[in-house]
Amino acid sequence: MSSIADNLKQVWNELPQGVRLVAVSKFHPNEAILEAYRTGQRIFGESKVQEMTAKHDSLPQDIEWHFIGHLQTNKVKYIASYVSLIHGIDSLRLLVEVDKQAARVGRVIDCLLQIHIAQEETKFGFTPDECRELLDGKEWKSLTHVRLCGLMGMATNTGNLAQVRHEFDSLHQLFREIQNNQMSGTSWFSELSMGMSHDYHEAIEAGSTLVRIGTHIFGERDYSAAK
Ligand SMILES: *Cc1c(COP(=O)(O)O)cnc(C)c1O
Repeated sequence: MSSIADNLKQVWNELPQGVRLVAVSKFHPNEAILEAYRTGQRIFGESKVQEMTAKHDSLPQDIEWHFIGHLQTNKVKYIASYVSLIHGIDSLRLLVEVDKQAARVGRVIDCLLQIHIAQEETKFGFTPDECRELLDGKEWKSLTHVRLCGLMGMATNTGNLAQVRHEFDSLHQLFREIQNNQMSGTSWFSELSMGMSHDYHEAIEAGSTLVRIGTHIFGERDYSAAK
């Protein structure tokens, strides 16, 4: 079995300039994260508030923690002081809460809007039209403690790579459309978070700037150990 360090280096070597790696460490212990950290990885992704906060509190303070899961509004307060990017904003209500909690701790929190691109019913996110509607509205413009930095999406979990490519391409197209319309004149709407262990090559080809890779780096997750 190859080591976490070897896996990381292999992924880094594959990333074109401008594409960053979020090492998805959910369900993996601090020792695994520390091995990746010592190899040089600084961005880690987690999908549970409690787990991420416990890891943040006990691991090196220069780690950038990205929240990649479904975020409940009543839990934003636990991560507001330290989270560096929230990938999964899927409602205006959640964005308003992040703004409120960021203001409370005197921060501006970077956020991505999650877009539903997969055919599966279970994935969260805005449809492209809901996203356009949100950005055409005035509510989000009054939020001074969040910064919309781009979009995030998950492709259908399928071996049909043509379909996966099509879904990533459609997200990239929406991203460009928003850059040229609602976000024109801003420099920070620049992140497109897409690609996981099984489809990150397709995501990079389609213009991803942030790949979220877990299993390929850390191995299979042991869900039975979940508290
Ligand atoms: C768990 C997770 C990943 C990583 O998945 P792997 O298949 O282990 O690479 C990426 N993105 C999100 C949103 C996740 O929840």
